[in-house]
Amino acid sequence: MDKRHLFCEIITKQTYEKLVDFTVALPDADKICAPGQFIHVLCGGQTFLRRPISICDVSKDTLRFIFEIRGEGTQVLSEKKVGDIVDMLAPLGHGFELTKDDENVIAIGGGIGCFPLLNAVKACGSAKAILGFRNKEAVYDKFIEDFENVCPVDLMTDDGSAGVKGFTTQGLEKMIADGEKISKIITCGPMVMMEKIIDIAQKNNIPCLASFEERMGCGIGTCLCCSTKVNGQRRCICKEGPVLNF
Ligand SMILES: Cc1cc2nc3c(=O)[nH]c(=O)nc-3n(C[C@H](O)[C@H](O)[C@H](O)COP(=O)(O)OP(=O)(O)OC[C@H]3O[C@@H](n4cnc5c(N)ncnc54)[C@H](O)[C@@H]3O)c2cc1C
Repeated sequence: MDKRHLFCEIITKQTYEKLVDFTVALPDADKICAPGQFIHVLCGGQTFLRRPISICDVSKDTLRFIFEIRGEGTQVLSEKKVGDIVDMLAPLGHGFELTKDDENVIAIGGGIGCFPLLNAVKACGSAKAILGFRNKEAVYDKFIEDFENVCPVDLMTDDGSAGVKGFTTQGLEKMIADGEKISKIITCGPMVMMEKIIDIAQKNNIPCLASFEERMGCGIGTCLCCSTKVNGQRRCICKEGPVLNF
């Protein structure tokens, strides 16, 4: 779908710890945006470059995104209120190629990488998720509830303070050992986690779609600052990705 320069009104705002959860008005959002694509947001303040944030969910006339306050851009963006306008380029990038024919998909997310997977599992015929976080404090309950309304979720934390103790990679290895039927894996999260997931998928001949996060400038494939080597080949993450197929 064509990328557009959009000015969208914030219609809901929720916060949890360092997370901000915005829903903005966008007519036909579900037709315009594919799962795994991202928005490139002008945050305001002294920041000049836009900041990339994944599309978490869409409906007929809304788009939801959730971000963690990290630096200046996300701090200024977090100060916006219901009724304010968000200036964004959207939808950008190549997302998860999924249809209702995709049954038995496993979605594996780590931390803020869990957010784009919600819209992605909605596009599948059937799916299960393994969502991993550092600890209980990092688990945004409202988001997990929304996820559980779409598909079963195995919640995991590194320290066992919520859900099952361990890493998402161990959760995947257990599913495979238990003989769970898996047609495709979709994943987003820290690079170290995704490298291991891709490795497990390849050893078990399971197609894997992984969403990469790189520092971005333009977001539309012009400045090439997000160009990175993947499997020995240079890939422009904002345009060819963020989702790459393995
Ligand atoms: C495709 C994509 C999707 C993303 N989706 C989400 C999401 O759904 N939720 C979420 O919390 N975060 C997401 N991020 C990370 C988010 O873009 C950064 O946390 C944010 O840009 C930090 O900006 P800042 O000004 O607050 O921080 P600063 O550190 O001050 O940013 C300085 C510069 O670095 C860039 N930058 C910093 N960190 C990153 C990063 N990790 N990735 C890319 N550029 C970075 C910024 O764009 C900016 O130009 C995503 C990143 C990418 C590439």
